[in-house]
Amino acid sequence: AKNRGRNRLVKFDESMNKEARMRLWLEIELQKALQKNGLEVWYQPKVNAKDFSIDGAEALVRWKHPVEGYISPAQFIPVAERSGLIEQLGRVVMREVFTTVCEWKKQGLLQGRVAINLSPQQFGNPKLIQFIDKLRKSTGINPSDITFELTESAMMNDGDHAIQMLKAIKKLGFALSIDDFGTGYSSLSYLARFPLDELKVDRAFIKDIESVPKQVTLIENIINLGKSLNMSVVAEGVETHQQATLLSNLNCDSIQGFHFFRPQPKHELEALLLKNSRR
Ligand code: C2E
Ligand code: CA
Ligand code: CA
Ligand code: CA
Repeated sequence: AKNRGRNRLVKFDESMNKEARMRLWLEIELQKALQKNGLEVWYQPKVNAKDFSIDGAEALVRWKHPVEGYISPAQFIPVAERSGLIEQLGRVVMREVFTTVCEWKKQGLLQGRVAINLSPQQFGNPKLIQFIDKLRKSTGINPSDITFELTESAMMNDGDHAIQMLKAIKKLGFALSIDDFGTGYSSLSYLARFPLDELKVDRAFIKDIESVPKQVTLIENIINLGKSLNMSVVAEGVETHQQATLLSNLNCDSIQGFHFFRPQPKHELEALLLKNSRR
């Protein structure tokens, strides 16, 4: 029994080491990628829930490692957050998106806003506001063309500080969205206290709506909650026609998901938008 116990302990340590080594490797490689300009930004269109026309997009970072190929943000974003690299990564993404959206708007290619994800760590640094303001001036972006997406945890970490930051971002003219709604904190009090424009219903609520009737009731009430607070409501992770129709009937504003579009590189999205505008 003693032996087995020791074996278990050894195995446990080895797996911890493996994970720690993986994190370290990711951190070093990500740092290199940031230095070499090796990150890309892809875009996933959203559609209007009434006529299914494109009404905006979400910017999603992509990292193609020279040897390993594409590594998922689900893997490297947490590493970037823990190591502090997320601030640099975030600046790269914002610069890229502001520049691209300026081009698209000049060409009349895109209706609606483009959303940028902000991690709680980025949001914790007051210099973020200065950075965004400078970038706004240097790129000439119209702030009403951009939405920043934050999760509940970004707002709950330090409520008072969070309110200040959100107000400052709003004051610059940008829109704010609450991402992954319903998966973070159980308290809803922040919905009344924070200046939010949009609510994104997490994929977890959408997944079973075809088979679980209570899930429909839940979604319906989330949509009504958002709308009654003057927020526009987006459903994400929509993968089937049935889900899309249901959400449309429940008066959801926008829909995002693989059923309509996958995230795609800038130039592919441009081709798609061009084709759409000529239709
Ligand atoms: P998120 O903000 O919730 O982004 C939505 C994720 O759902 C994306 O994964 C997208 O590809 C995926 N998705 C979209 N439609 C569907 C669908 O119909 N079905 C399924 N199964 N998935 C769908 P992705 O690109 O792997 O990003 C994962 C997470 O990484 C994001 O979740 C976000 O939290 C984070 N992330 C991505 N880009 C950035 C960034 O530039 N900055 C920061 N701070 N975080 C980012
Ligand atoms: Ca998001
Ligand atoms: Ca989300
Ligand atoms: Ca998420």
